[in-house]
Amino acid sequence: MDLNLTNKTAVVTGAGRGIGLAIVRALVAEGARVLGATRTITDELRATGATVLAVDLETETGAAQLVNAATEVLGGLDILVNNVGGANHNALAGFLDIEDETWQRSFDLNFYSAVRTIRAALPSLLERSGTVINVSSIVGRAPGAAVTDYGVSKAALTALGKALAEQFGPQGVRVNTISPGPVRTAFWESPTGPGGKIAAANGVSLAEFLPNLPTAVGMTTGRLVEADEVAAAVAFLASDRARSMVGADLIIDGGALKT
Ligand code: NDP
Repeated sequence: MDLNLTNKTAVVTGAGRGIGLAIVRALVAEGARVLGATRTITDELRATGATVLAVDLETETGAAQLVNAATEVLGGLDILVNNVGGANHNALAGFLDIEDETWQRSFDLNFYSAVRTIRAALPSLLERSGTVINVSSIVGRAPGAAVTDYGVSKAALTALGKALAEQFGPQGVRVNTISPGPVRTAFWESPTGPGGKIAAANGVSLAEFLPNLPTAVGMTTGRLVEADEVAAAVAFLASDRARSMVGADLIIDGGALKT
């Protein structure tokens, strides 16, 4: 399918690895001019051919810095992908052990990063009838006992997508959300990340835990989602082929979420 993103400009946050890196690759492959923003610039990101920017999006000033750089380098913004996020601050703490600072950091990373970036980018998006895609999570649909602060901050992000779609759709800016289930990234594969911590909490090694994870979370495909599958959906949503998709929340989870 020709998505015709040639001459479109795009910003992707959290672009150094994992899903964000795959999104950069997909948008570049479709002909977009991309600025990949992340905290730690990686060789893989440089190799995509995208312009790169090191920025901390947990801070109040990060978003403005990012949008200023995008305006300077790209001249304006057609596609904004708010992918940055994670649960690394606090994997597995119970509610009573989650302090205000942790709640704040989770919301800064998963929610306010998007709020601030969208706010800064809106003048350009409105001028160019641009589009926003927020990468949330299925735990935003069904926050549970594990990674509570992460799930609740993702629920806020998913709700933000709906609210902004209604407000800015009539002005030509489409806002959509993608909610992946477990994707094969460092999130699950790193011993120090949430996957490693969940494995340890269950008294098993990561090598024992990972092969059983898809079935344990009810994925009928029997395997984790690949980052390029999420990236393909982002590229589609960014294109005019998805021009009737406004305020959608696209679930990509191998059938894990049953509701
Ligand atoms: P990774 O942890 O693999 O990558 C995250 C990227 O974001 C890294 O490049 C990281 O840089 C960067 N980053 C982290 N914090 C900041 C910050 N404060 N400012 C700027 N950049 C930052 O994440 P995933 O690819 O696994 O996840 C991407 C998105 O998808 C997240 O929003 C996540 O919540 C969501 N998601 C992931 C799922 C999964 O199973 N992997 C499932 C559902 C949703 P650095 O190397 O410096 O940390």
